[in-house]
Amino acid sequence: MAKTTLKLPFSLLFFTSLTLTLATLALTAAETAAYPTIPGTMPTGCSLSEEEVPTPVRREVYENGQIYDITHRITSDMPSFGSKEGLGQYLWLPKSIKNGSLANNSEMKLPSHTGTHVDAPGHVFDHYFDAGYDVDTLDLGVLNGPALLVDVPRDKNITAEVMESLNIPRGVRRVIFRTLNTDRKLMFKREFDSSYVGFMKDGARWLVQNTDIKLVGIDYLSAAAHDDLLPSHYEFLEGREVILVEGLKLDGVPAGLYNIHCLHLRLLGAEGSPIRCILIK
Ligand SMILES: [Zn+2]
Repeated sequence: MAKTTLKLPFSLLFFTSLTLTLATLALTAAETAAYPTIPGTMPTGCSLSEEEVPTPVRREVYENGQIYDITHRITSDMPSFGSKEGLGQYLWLPKSIKNGSLANNSEMKLPSHTGTHVDAPGHVFDHYFDAGYDVDTLDLGVLNGPALLVDVPRDKNITAEVMESLNIPRGVRRVIFRTLNTDRKLMFKREFDSSYVGFMKDGARWLVQNTDIKLVGIDYLSAAAHDDLLPSHYEFLEGREVILVEGLKLDGVPAGLYNIHCLHLRLLGAEGSPIRCILIK
């Protein structure tokens, strides 16, 4: 007797708990599909307790090596042009759940040429700046499409001679130049290093005059070598056709042909903007 009376409530209990589990699973799956992976974050109303939140995964490569993230993570320790101290604090949390707000809402303040970023013609030409050649006017057709990642000689800046030696065929519109800066991991060092390598004026001029390259990517905070900082920028940006993407993260990416996708922020009036760039095989 006792056996049968016990059996019924147990099955009921089992059925009820199974139904609840399935319902929870369905809810979690729906939320995940609608709001995919933001590492370390979960939608509000999720039933996971604090101890159950999995450790976020931060990746450089996606889809088994098909997608490379060539954007540097913005951190307070990253270098900032001309600064010994690095970027410093750039993010604040004036409204936080811990302090009674309904949600976390951060604010940021940072130079528009922070980390991986793009230069618009107004960066070095004041008449272009006044005329409105800001990042909102940059051509997304240039910032997206087939791109060549090339290694340049490690012992010098990018001169006309170096450019010529690279033998980049006509018709190539986007080239990412990997230099000694990547080997020296300069973008991972807080203090700005003016001994970085980049384009000398004659290298920039040679590129503009002898190639079809409109997207120039480079692996430190300036495409121009420090000794030719303004002259090289003038050569590149005067024609308003070449777009400079600076501060790219190129370590561990095989040289070769990819599709590049770069999207910056649509900042009206800004002569530079952080940009997100990926390479797809
Ligand atoms: Zn810049």
